[in-house]
Amino acid sequence: MSFIIDSHEDLAWNIVNLNRDYTQSAFDIREAEKDTPIPAFNGNTLLGWPQYQEANVAIVFATLYCAPKRLDKGKYPVRVYDNPEKAHLCYQENLEAYRRLTGENPEKYRLICCQTDLVKHLDQWQSHLSSSQEPPPPVGIIILMEGAEGIIEPAEVERWYEWGVRVIGPAWAGNRYCGGTREPGPITKLGFELLDHMAAFDLILDISHMDHQSILQALDTYDGTIIASHSNAEALIKGIPINRHLKDKALQHLIERDGVMGIVPLNAFLDWDWRDHGGREAITLDHVIAQIDYVCQMAGNTCHVALGTDFDGGFGVESVPFEIDTIADLPKLAPQLAKRGYNEEDIGRIFSDNWLRILKQNLPAS
Ligand SMILES: [Zn+2]
Repeated sequence: MSFIIDSHEDLAWNIVNLNRDYTQSAFDIREAEKDTPIPAFNGNTLLGWPQYQEANVAIVFATLYCAPKRLDKGKYPVRVYDNPEKAHLCYQENLEAYRRLTGENPEKYRLICCQTDLVKHLDQWQSHLSSSQEPPPPVGIIILMEGAEGIIEPAEVERWYEWGVRVIGPAWAGNRYCGGTREPGPITKLGFELLDHMAAFDLILDISHMDHQSILQALDTYDGTIIASHSNAEALIKGIPINRHLKDKALQHLIERDGVMGIVPLNAFLDWDWRDHGGREAITLDHVIAQIDYVCQMAGNTCHVALGTDFDGGFGVESVPFEIDTIADLPKLAPQLAKRGYNEEDIGRIFSDNWLRILKQNLPAS
């Protein structure tokens, strides 16, 4: 039995903006929100601590994320920024949310910043999985900064690194550093300076949300490890009109760079017009498997694909494949992968070992 590493969840954004309490069950969170505007705004939650336990989710790459004011639709009062200083404060507030979550609930959540933390965490998970007598270990948190607007100037990377950030995705929308989703453009001069500072600390570069052009530039120039924490293969997404996913050339290059892509089980990222194509019932885990298989066929192995759910990242249970009610349903992928010829080792790589390879390569010793 393998555990799961999920490479993208906006936990802090939900904690800070929606007051979601992820020490609770997903069903209790839904119940608490049922008479509020939250389900209409952000969907019904897919996450909760008992559901992590049920699926054996051992590690989550949890984001620091905040949106620019110009893209806020005003449907619900959330934190936004309109200059780098405000962005910095928003991202700090996210970081503080993880300090509180792990500080107040050490039996449920734990920050992982170095190899020592990782080894201790994995030991505890291994002994839990080999003897169900053990109490369930905490969910480990790797901090991922989604959108680098919170970094006021590139040299500030060092401070974010000291504060525990281990993965940085320079873009969400386009910004001072590079072109992003719906706002195409190259990596800027400032963006290249940012990458230089990131490389100096072995920070993992996350190309999800970067524009196609800036992704190719990053793959050509970044010295360190590159991942796509939550992206799919664009070639398989019917009707996708936005620059949010990886074109074949980028995917091929990511594989050559020994990177990993976390597949997102969000219906619109599997079939853009899914609502017109039969709705939720029509989108199933088969679509997710097709994405996984596409990467494996391109690579000729199972070493470059994993899971990056983005659960609660602006959507909820209403917008994910039919068989998924909460994150507890992710293990349903295993028997379906097995039916397609994936053996236990392959499934272990997809569920966790590929992300473990990246973490073992990049986290500092202590
Ligand atoms: Zn995202």
